[in-house]
Amino acid sequence: MSLPVKELIKIGENRLRDACVADAAIDAKELFCYMMHIDRTRLMLSWQDVMQDNQCEEYFALVEKRASRVPLQHITGEQEFMGLTFQVSDKVLIPRQDTETMVEDALDVIHKNKVRNEELNCKARSSWSVLDLCCGSGAIGISLAKLGGDVKVTCSDLSAEALAMAELNGRSLGAKSVKFVRSDMFEAFRGKLGNKKFDMIISNPPYIRHDVIETLEPEVRDHEPMMALDGGEDGLDFYRQIVDEAPDFLKKEGVVMVEIGHDQMSDIIKLFSADDRYSFVTGLKDLAGRDRIVTAVLSPKKK
Ligand code: GLN
Repeated sequence: MSLPVKELIKIGENRLRDACVADAAIDAKELFCYMMHIDRTRLMLSWQDVMQDNQCEEYFALVEKRASRVPLQHITGEQEFMGLTFQVSDKVLIPRQDTETMVEDALDVIHKNKVRNEELNCKARSSWSVLDLCCGSGAIGISLAKLGGDVKVTCSDLSAEALAMAELNGRSLGAKSVKFVRSDMFEAFRGKLGNKKFDMIISNPPYIRHDVIETLEPEVRDHEPMMALDGGEDGLDFYRQIVDEAPDFLKKEGVVMVEIGHDQMSDIIKLFSADDRYSFVTGLKDLAGRDRIVTAVLSPKKK
């Protein structure tokens, strides 16, 4: 069997659509590009080429794998985030576009001391030390190190396998001044002579409620690390710990920034607001208009 690229990809797309893959048309093209080591522009130029039998077979094998709901990124081994290519595996959460919004907000804080054009009520700093807590692939921390200017980043995660992936990404993306520390939340930063303190703590912690996990898409539920998703019975376990402990690891007027689930904004704002050590507690939306980020400054509320 030999087939023109156009037809081959159409067959792939239909197979993926039958398997209820969300972005069937995109993924069918991406799998072809991955197989041929070409980009999407090159694909457009190859549209009329004819593929031989063995290449068709190879393509269909990739399509079948994706049809079994293995995430595209686990097949290609990578995901783009903030214009950088991160390597991924089933040991780390695949970086999401939603999270780019938080990185952009963090860059605004770092560069302009502003959040969405509002002056942040904290002192301006010329250099920043940032902790990316629960770093997974390192997407957040490494992006900040690459794009933030004078930023020293520490990426930490409880999973040794995730941390190894983050380190690999740090190296392959040439992110200097990034440290990788294995830690159960803040544990490794506690010291007998004083804790390690940062200007910013940023985190995309596990936040899915236990009872929601079963309802997730198979790509997420069956292939992404549960450890990176499960936020406990009400999904808020990690936020409680962050709100409670972050002040011990922040410099004066340090900034906390967390990604949140779309239905968790009021709960998380309440957690920060109920704690007098924080001020400037702000909720922000992602590009799709869903609640996505909460930020707060370590500075006692004026009474
Ligand atoms: N946003 C992720 C999802 O949609 C969850 C990330 C997390 O729990 N931190 O699956």
